[in-house]
Amino acid sequence: MPPAGVIERYRSFLPVGPATPVVTLSEGSTPLIPARRLAAALNCELRIFLKYEGMNPTGSFKDRGMTMALSKAAEAGARAVVCASTGNTAASAAAYAARAGMRAVVLLPAGSVALGKVSQALAYGARVLAVEGNFDHALQLVRDLCDRFPITLVNSINPFRIEGQKTGAFEIVDELGRAPDFHFIPVGNAGNITAYWRGYREYDALKTSGLPRMMGWQAEGAAPIVLGRPVADPHTLATAIKIGNPASWAGAVAARDESGGHIGAVSDDEIVEAYKMLSRLEGVFCEPASAASVAGVVRSLRDGLFRENPRAVVVCVLTGHGLKDPERAIKNCDAIPTVPAALEAVASAAGVS
Ligand SMILES: *Cc1c(COP(=O)(O)O)cnc(C)c1O
Repeated sequence: MPPAGVIERYRSFLPVGPATPVVTLSEGSTPLIPARRLAAALNCELRIFLKYEGMNPTGSFKDRGMTMALSKAAEAGARAVVCASTGNTAASAAAYAARAGMRAVVLLPAGSVALGKVSQALAYGARVLAVEGNFDHALQLVRDLCDRFPITLVNSINPFRIEGQKTGAFEIVDELGRAPDFHFIPVGNAGNITAYWRGYREYDALKTSGLPRMMGWQAEGAAPIVLGRPVADPHTLATAIKIGNPASWAGAVAARDESGGHIGAVSDDEIVEAYKMLSRLEGVFCEPASAASVAGVVRSLRDGLFRENPRAVVVCVLTGHGLKDPERAIKNCDAIPTVPAALEAVASAAGVS
């Protein structure tokens, strides 16, 4: 059993000291699931692994960074934290703040946050505000708020967030015994791709575990890094990556260029297709944004990326749990048939008679 929580598991790689109060919910140590049926359905020999970050305590990878951010905030004597969020940062900040006995304030873009995430932030007792604007507006407001008032910012521009999130790369290398050949990951505010690249590099410097090519994926309607300019009015059903001006833009570009990788865009239709394949073929339910990584694999297969290395080891990060966005899951499917409470009717409707 690895120690509980990423700070204890990887303490020597993190900026914590003996006096840092560790605020943890035993995050990390998430499953790395081989996806053989997915590979078969894609008609390829890739060795695909799903890093299922939906298994973190609040259902997304944000918990890896939040245990660091709240521990360091507690060490500094902070009483309150604030974030702008497409939902998962809010849920995570609210949970870890509750655990630390701090107040959390979260700013959500009105109407653009999946239901499960809102329910979490409320349940954990955060002060939840819906901003009449998009995520980028909310993030600017939070920055201004922190300049003026004594409250700690816990978005991924807080450097401790990135430090915590790099532990995802450590876990992958520890489990595979080496770095994958390719690392596929959704890109929103671009903190996570920045963090994974840092984690792979730090481990490689120590253990010569190798380095993957970093393959980041935005949604077509919210693809500022692909376009090379901010998107004023981003659109995608994958709300977790509906961001027009990523805070860690430079980190994402460095990860791409230093690793010989790529940042591309996939359509909402491709995202939904990958999302359905993951749950129906592998029994792994993630939220739509997470499926952008697998949509990226499908696209890359089509573009011939793996021609040189058809049996490459490919890791896809599934950033958040499917239950975060139950409305989307239901919308993608046929309506549930209502049947009389009678055996013949049930058997016939079930297709077993
Ligand atoms: C936050 C988030 C992302 C985007 O991560 P960034 O670090 O902002 O690029 C992707 N998927 C999910 C589920 C998220 O919560």
